[in-house]
Amino acid sequence: MSSSSSYSNPPCAACKFLRRKCLPSCIFAPYFPPEEPIKFTTVHKVFGASNVSKLLNEIQPHQREDAVNSLAYEAEARLKDPVYGCVGAISVLQKQVIRLQKELDATNADLMRYANYESGGGTGTLIGLTYGMFGHRYSSAWNSRINSGDYNNGIDGDSGR
Ligand SMILES: [Zn+2]
Repeated sequence: MSSSSSYSNPPCAACKFLRRKCLPSCIFAPYFPPEEPIKFTTVHKVFGASNVSKLLNEIQPHQREDAVNSLAYEAEARLKDPVYGCVGAISVLQKQVIRLQKELDATNADLMRYANYESGGGTGTLIGLTYGMFGHRYSSAWNSRINSGDYNNGIDGDSGR
């Protein structure tokens, strides 16, 4: 029952792909588990295994997981979009942020106008009153013209009163 043997451990995705023995000191093993073979092949295709191992050795161990995740993201973006890679995604998102900011500004402006109208002290109420007065005057004029008989000849079914 010796525990020093590592034969029972499956090699990490990197060592399996590179057909080499996965030693306990393997730099890839913590970040490229055998269950995620695509993660390594994607990163390897774009950056190359030796560049990735060099990069991982140059940075602090606590930064390695983030580095591998960003490499995987960048590699995937580069394969999807060989011209712009993740820069393409960033510029699409920047445009989206600008558009949404404009939309938000417009909505906030609408909200301010609505709040003024609701509070009763703003110009919205004045406009409402003016329309109401105008409407009343208009309908009065209309009624008086009907009552005066100007339109009686043109209106059906208005007789018998
Ligand atoms: Zn390994």
